[in-house]
Amino acid sequence: MFYHLILTDECNLCCTYCRGKAFEALAGGETDVAIDTSLSPDFACDLGDLYRFLERDPEPCVTFYGGEPLMRMDLIRKIMDTAPVQRFMIQTNGILLDRLGSDYVNRMETILVSLDGPPEVTDAHRGRGTFDGVIRNIREIIAGGYQGELIARMTVTEGTDIRDAVRYLASNDQYSFDSLHWQIDADFSGDSSMRKFSRWLTTSYLPGIRALIGDWVGIMEAEGRVARWYPFLQTTIDLLQDRPSRLRCGCGHANYTIMTDGHIAPCPVMIGMKNSYVGHIRTADPWNLPVLDMTGSCRRCDILGFCGGRCLYADITRPWPPEEKAVICSSVRDLRDGLSSVLPEIRRLLGSGKIRREDFSHTRYNGCEIIP
Ligand code: SF4
Ligand code: SF4
Ligand code: SF4
Repeated sequence: MFYHLILTDECNLCCTYCRGKAFEALAGGETDVAIDTSLSPDFACDLGDLYRFLERDPEPCVTFYGGEPLMRMDLIRKIMDTAPVQRFMIQTNGILLDRLGSDYVNRMETILVSLDGPPEVTDAHRGRGTFDGVIRNIREIIAGGYQGELIARMTVTEGTDIRDAVRYLASNDQYSFDSLHWQIDADFSGDSSMRKFSRWLTTSYLPGIRALIGDWVGIMEAEGRVARWYPFLQTTIDLLQDRPSRLRCGCGHANYTIMTDGHIAPCPVMIGMKNSYVGHIRTADPWNLPVLDMTGSCRRCDILGFCGGRCLYADITRPWPPEEKAVICSSVRDLRDGLSSVLPEIRRLLGSGKIRREDFSHTRYNGCEIIP
C-alpha cells in the first residue's frame, strides 16, 4: 500500500494556486465539508503508533508530503533511519533538496519535484528564481549519486502553453526530465473565470495535448523509447490492453494519507476533512482500510473505465455545477480520443520491435494523479 505522510503544513514558497485557494473555493461549493480546525499543522503522531501500523503492511511505501516536507528534514531522516519501511518517495518543491544529504536522497525511489514549465512560467507561479534554484539542486543530487526516478510535476493553468511547457522540461540544456506529470488547476469559481478557463481549454490546452500526443509517438518512432509522460503512459497501456482502471491516483483504494494527528484520509488534499477519514493508525489495519468508490455522476459515465473518476476529492466536495464539471470532463474525453487515435501506430511500433511493452512499465500510485 502507498501512504502519503503529512509532515507539516509549513512551506517556504507561496504559489499562486496553493491549497488555501482550494479551501476558499469550498465555501461556495455544493456540499458542506466539515474541517477539523484543531488539526496540528505539524506532525504530532507517536512514531511507535506509526511504525506498528506500517509493520502490519508487508510492503508499505511512504511518500513524504506537506506543505513542504523538507521543512521537516529532521523527521524525514529519523523516519528513514528507524521506520520498518524499505520504499520511500517524496513530493517536494525542490528548494531544499540539496540539504537532505545523499544518504537519504539516494534511498528515495521516486522524487516528484514541482516545476510548471520553462523558467518564466515556473517563476510566475512559484516565485522569482525558483526554476534555476530547483534545477541547481537537481543537478547536485544527481552529482551525489541519485539514480531513482525524478518526476517533474507540473500545475497547468490558463496561460500555460502545455505543449511548450512539456517540451521544454523534456528537453533543454539545463536538465531534461524523462518523467513528467501535469495536473490542471481546475479551481475556478464564478462564471467569468470559468469562461476564461473554458476558452483556454478549448483554444490552447486541448489542441496542445493533441500535438503532444503526436510528439510522444514521434519520440517512439525516432528514438525507440517511450517517454514517461504519465498522463499518456498509464492510460495508453491500459487502452492497449483494454483494461479499465479504478481511480488512477489510487486514493481510497491503493493510496491513503496519514494526517499529522494519525488519522487516515483517502487523499493528501483532504487535510482536516474529518468526515472522510477512514481510520486512525492506532487502530486501523492496513489491509482492511475502507475502499471508496465514486458516488456522483461518474458512476454513469461511459468513459469511467478510462478516466477512473479523475478525483475523489472533487467527487466528495463537488466544487463545480454540472456545466463546469462538463468542461473538465471534456478534457478527459479528448485525452481518451487523442490517445485512441494513435493506438494503431503504437501497435505497429510494438509489432516491429521498435518499442516494447515493458517500456510502458511504471509504478502505479506513485503520487502522479494521471488524469490531468
Ligand atoms: S510549494 Fe506546494 S505547498 Fe508550497 S505553496 Fe507551493 S503548492 Fe503550496
Ligand atoms: S470523465 Fe468526468 S464524469 Fe466521466 S468518469 Fe471522468 S470525471 Fe467522471
Ligand atoms: S486526483 Fe483528487 S483524489 Fe487523487 S490525489 Fe489528487 S486531489 Fe486527491
